[in-house]
Amino acid sequence: MTETAEDLTRRYLVPVARLNLPSEPDVIHLSVYQWMPAFQAWATGMAICGASSQPGPLLKATVTCSGCLGYRARYERMLAPGYRPENDDPDVLRERLERAHTELTSMSGQIGDLRRELEAHTETRQLLSQWGPELRASFPVLFKKLDILLTLTQPEEAS
Ligand SMILES: [Zn+2]
Repeated sequence: MTETAEDLTRRYLVPVARLNLPSEPDVIHLSVYQWMPAFQAWATGMAICGASSQPGPLLKATVTCSGCLGYRARYERMLAPGYRPENDDPDVLRERLERAHTELTSMSGQIGDLRRELEAHTETRQLLSQWGPELRASFPVLFKKLDILLTLTQPEEAS
């Protein structure tokens, strides 16, 4: 969120002013900007670093509070459309990682099988090109069938 907030169902991060008190550090904070149905108005709350702030966004102001900047990425993730709370749950993430690892292991096994199969075909081809012409002349029908078979098993390779 930088210029205008239009989607009433969404929440945005906006710069906000500090409270005008001598005790408050002179920084620009970040706050969540959201539509309040009860008031039919957009409103900001506390700064995300926990400091109090003046109500209303300070559009185009540069955020200078290091606390707010530290939390910014996490809030941006949480406020993005499609965010799921479990995306920040370490247990869920760990489980997802383990599942992905299992899938990857099984996939690399399959790739190994495919590679061995392909190598077997390559070997057959090499033998054929070596001995082929003579044998081909002797067994034309057999080789015709073999050609068809090889074409069918390796459709992406031009023969
Ligand atoms: Zn702050």
